[in-house]
Amino acid sequence: SKNAGRSCFHLYSAELKAEADQRNVLEIELREAIWREELEVFYQPVIELGTGRVKSVEALARWHHGTRGYIPPAEFIAVAEAGGLIVELGNQVLARACRDAMSMPADVKVAVNLSALQFAGTNLVDSVTFALAQSGLPQTRLELEITESVFLADTEENLKTLQRLKALGVSIALDDFGVGYSSLSYLTAFPFDKVKIDKSFIDRIDRCETVAVLKSIVQLAKTLKLSIVAEGVESSEQVKRLQSLGIPLGQGFHFSKPVPLADLSWQGLPARRK
Ligand code: C2E
Ligand code: CA
Ligand code: CA
Ligand code: CA
Repeated sequence: SKNAGRSCFHLYSAELKAEADQRNVLEIELREAIWREELEVFYQPVIELGTGRVKSVEALARWHHGTRGYIPPAEFIAVAEAGGLIVELGNQVLARACRDAMSMPADVKVAVNLSALQFAGTNLVDSVTFALAQSGLPQTRLELEITESVFLADTEENLKTLQRLKALGVSIALDDFGVGYSSLSYLTAFPFDKVKIDKSFIDRIDRCETVAVLKSIVQLAKTLKLSIVAEGVESSEQVKRLQSLGIPLGQGFHFSKPVPLADLSWQGLPARRK
């Protein structure tokens, strides 16, 4: 009936409003947490599959909320992006990661995720330069992870910024590779150093369609002289398949979850036995 439809609409809009209010509260609390520099950074190792050695660690932001416990980045990064907080958040993670890397073995790189919105201002290059200078971290030990979304907006300007970052001597990785619409074209759009194959491929690595796709990615990466990382590796079976495909690096719960700096271990990760 008409009435039922109307009350349904009211219910729906009330729900939406409650959701929006909750989001506003979260945004206010996040702004506060950033202001107080309360965000934490966890690290997840990237492993050389053949040796079990840690080649790099990825910095992942963590927000320990006063009453809600740890809020996942999937939730608060979006809030930071919508609320204009992502640049400040990103700079804090960058600075912290560079500082923390100074207490890691000198052959280990640190990788930092960049939001496409960090490219919007012109300060990204300055922020990276500043973080390196403040920490004393050699530029060759910093890696920046970007997604295809960087190429979607303001392409020319973003490409220039990427080139300036690369000119600093840091390396650039293309994250979540394979889930976008035209991933392959983005691979050739910029001289990346590394490509990170999205977890969804690793989940389906026992299927022959997936193997075919991975083979062509490996081939292309060779041609473009790119390093390859498999994301979301959860089993030794997957490690075996990755190695037979010639994929040299892996990251995932099979090796380690993201952990605080103090809990990182530099050896004893499960290497593949021949
Ligand atoms: P991402 O960059 O693709 O990071 C990998 C995500 O996969 C991390 O989730 C990690 O904990 C998770 N992961 C790693 N190995 C496994 C596995 O074996 N199994 C499963 N199920 N998951 C695995 P996390 O830390 O929740 O981060 C989610 C996303 O939030 C990141 O995806 C990244 O896009 C974003 N993010 C995190 N920190 C930052 C940051 O400092 N800045 C920006 N801009 N984004 C960030
Ligand atoms: Ca990443
Ligand atoms: Ca990823
Ligand atoms: Ca992702």
